[in-house]
Order: sequence, then C-alpha cells, then structure tokens
Amino acid sequence: MPLAREVVEAIAIDNGVCIRPVALRRMDITTGTSQIIDVPCGSTLDAKCPPCAKRNRKLRMAQCREGWHLAAEPVTTPDEPTEYQRHLVEWRAEAQALRDTAQSAGDPTDDYDQAIMELDAEINAAGVRGNVVGLVGTKRSRSTRRRQDAPNLPKRMMTATTLGRTYSGADGRSYRPSMFITLTLDTYGRVNAGAPVDPGSYDYVRAARDAIHFGKLIDRFVQNLRRVAGYDVQYFASVEMQKRLAPHLHMAMRGTLPRADIRALAAATYHQVWWPSCDVVRFEGNHLPVWDEQAGYLDPATGEVLLTWAQALDELDPDAQPFHVVRFGPQIDAQGILAGTPDADQAIRYVSKYLTKTLGQAADTQAARDHAARLLDALRYEPCTPTCPNWLRYGVQPKNAKPGMIPGRCRGKAHRAEHLGYGGRRVLVSRKWSNKTLTEHKADRRTWVLEALGLDAEPADAGRYIWSPVAAGDPDVSPIRVRLLRSIRERLRWRAHMNQLQAAAEGQDLSAVEGRAA
Ligand SMILES: [Zn+2]
Ligand SMILES: [Zn+2]
Repeated sequence: MPLAREVVEAIAIDNGVCIRPVALRRMDITTGTSQIIDVPCGSTLDAKCPPCAKRNRKLRMAQCREGWHLAAEPVTTPDEPTEYQRHLVEWRAEAQALRDTAQSAGDPTDDYDQAIMELDAEINAAGVRGNVVGLVGTKRSRSTRRRQDAPNLPKRMMTATTLGRTYSGADGRSYRPSMFITLTLDTYGRVNAGAPVDPGSYDYVRAARDAIHFGKLIDRFVQNLRRVAGYDVQYFASVEMQKRLAPHLHMAMRGTLPRADIRALAAATYHQVWWPSCDVVRFEGNHLPVWDEQAGYLDPATGEVLLTWAQALDELDPDAQPFHVVRFGPQIDAQGILAGTPDADQAIRYVSKYLTKTLGQAADTQAARDHAARLLDALRYEPCTPTCPNWLRYGVQPKNAKPGMIPGRCRGKAHRAEHLGYGGRRVLVSRKWSNKTLTEHKADRRTWVLEALGLDAEPADAGRYIWSPVAAGDPDVSPIRVRLLRSIRERLRWRAHMNQLQAAAEGQDLSAVEGRAA
C-alpha cells in the first residue's frame, strides 16, 4: 500500500513528526518491563528526514545565536550524562563487543570499525568530552613535527579570555562586534556554472586531496587565528560544498580583527601532509597484496612483506617535499557583525543552511554531473587516512592493517558521493562557544514544553532504563505506518493541549486588563 504510506508521511511532515524513527528497546530495571520507544532519527546518527533536519537546524541556530556575542565568559562544567548519552555509550560498548567477537572469529571488522568511529564522533557531539574507552593513539613525534613552521604573522600577547572587545559608541552605548568569515579552497581550473570549462586540464587530484585535508587546514587556521588575535577565539562554523564541489567554510567568530589581518592570516595558513608517496601504483586489478597472519600484507608474487605504515613514515626523506600541501584560495570574505542586527540573523541562517541540504547536492546539468563523477573517480584510490586500504595499491600496509582490505573499497566517508572528499563534521563548534551543548539546547526545549504542560521535566531516575538496539524484524516493532500514526496522534494531542494553555493564559491576561479598566 505505497499510497497510504505516502499520505501518512506527508501528514507526519506537516506535523513535524520524524518519518524515519529508530526503534530502541527501553528496559525499566525497577519494574523489569521493557518497551519499544521510537527515537527521532535526528537524535541518533545522521538525521535523514526533513522534519528532523528542520528541527536540528532550529537548534543549531539557537546554539549559534547563544554564543556569538556573549558578554561574560561561558561556564563549562560537565553535566550528568543524559539518557541519550548513556544510550550511546552502551551502544558503543555493544559495538566493541561485536567487533571483538568478529575479530576472534577471523571475520572482517570493517563495518564495526566504521560504526565505532561514527559512534565516538556522535558521543562527542552529544556533549560527552574525551574518548569513552580512554584510548589515546600512540603519537609519532618525528615525521609529523617536521617543517610545520609557523607562518610569519603579527602576534598579539595572549590573554585568557574568550570574549571579544567591547567598544563604546558616541551615544554612550557599548558595542560588541564580531565577524562572519567565509574561506574557500584554491582554484583547480576555470569553471562555468559549476563545471570545468576544460575538464582535461582541471586538477582533480589536487581538488580531491584538498577536500580530504580541508579539516586539518581549518584546525591550522583556528590556531593561527588565536595567535594573531591574542585571545582564545571561539567559533561556530559549518562546511558546505560550493557549486564547483570544493568544500568551503562559513565561520561565526566571537570578537573582531582588522579585515586585513584575516586576509593575511588566511593567506599564510597552510597544512602539510607527510605521507608516503602515491606516485607509483604497485598493485591493482587481480594483482593485490595477500594477507599473512604473522607478517601482514605480502607481495603476491615475491612474498616480500610490504612496508608497514610506521616503517613507511620512517623512510620518508626529511628533505623531500611533503605528500601534499593544502591552502586556502584567494576568495576570502570577512564581515563585521553587530549583535541583534538583521546582518547577524542572516549570517546565522546562512551558517545553518547546510542542515537541510546534503553535502553533495544533486547536480542540475549533465556537465555538472560529469564533473562530480570525475571527482569521485579521483577520490576512489586516494588514501583518505593512514588506515585507508588504498595504501596497499602503493605498496604500503595501512596503519592498523587487518585482513580483507582491498584498495578502491574503502568505506571511509571521504570516498562517498555525498561527501566528495570531506569526511569531517559539517558543523564545528569550539568548546567554549556558549554555556550549552546542543544536547542541553534540546533538553531546554523539552523542559519548556513539559513545564508548559504541567508535567514533571526531570526523569524520575536517570539510571532506571537500559537502552538496546532492536534487531531488524523484531516482532515487537509495529509497522512503520502504525508507528507514524501513533507519533502524529501524540503530537496533535500535545499541540491541542498547548493551544488550550495558551488560550487560557491569554484569557487571564484579558481579564486582568478588564479588571484594571473597571
Ligand atoms: Zn527524523
Ligand atoms: Zn579511504
């Protein structure tokens, strides 16, 4: 009955109800009963449905507005974990157990590793700081430290504040200006309407590598920004794709700098990637390295053991050129913004616009579609991280090599059509942006609604529930249409109640006014 389902979905969307809910089993340890709860897709990994995307955007806008023009230092104290955070952490433990079981059975662990990575990111995004399992990667000091020389920039004395300066106007009012910065990558060839004028000379390899390392370039920019500004600059930023499919950054920054300084800063910022070379393809097609339980990957013809990741890094010539250097392009935009002005509102809408779009937008012309396909081709064998299976193609064992790795079949986000090289987070919020994490903004809104309804906002006992994923085909999970209808009914009931409360409140106001008039 596809038609009925479409109708139900349309009604759900109209009412702001999630149409891709995730069913979770919630076990109540006090009563020993369990219940299936629908969690909106927007509160788990990757919001996919329009109502959740819209709701997330509103939350992000609130978060951006909250921190941009703060007049007092934010207080960042860790809070008690929320139910959702607990649930994620439990899920993470589950994923780890599944992965370890698979590994000891000799099965591939790629899917679990990927899920674990995404869960870790999600756990951090949910406002939990640090790494759940307390794992700290072994840091290599030699190869990464070399030649990352600090650019030659004016530096100011560092002060321990996150706030920008306040200025007094002639009218006696004080102003706390801030900035909205847009940074783009370099050009790779002339483009027209989102597609290269001459695809043959367009530098797809450089475009691919720049996109892969864009996140690191942003990190460097922020480091340099703080040095030049002389205070602990805070930002709320989002990454979007330009029409030519290069990622670019919109950043709301607290405080201001002269525009010329921002320009000099962006021009002087670069990131060097010290990786083994990808110039020579050693293994491809059916001629691929084979796995050996003791030695790792071997040349299939000679049995020679391939260099491990650590060995390959040690063999890099310190006088050689880096594998890649990524810089910003000449298009830099920096505007001064005052709190509470239409410009500020517009910038906030702009920086959150990405939330209702996917990163790789559907192209509208054949030329643009071909352009996207060529970029995706260039990304296919480009190593995205030290652990990328693509290293095997160039005769190097990926970091943490394991059986089943095949070049060209990396599951990392960077290689996917919807990410086009940039595998990082879409929204970047510095740690001292505001007093609240996104989870706290969510909780705020929930508390507000519950209080308005006269319900208890505090969960009776946070440790009372144990959440677990529900297997596909679990007989306790109702068909999606039934679940949507249930959520819609719930939403309508709440809305009716809210309207009643509002009408009652207005009636009281009115009678108060009438009382005074009498
Ligand atoms: Zn949803
Ligand atoms: Zn990869």
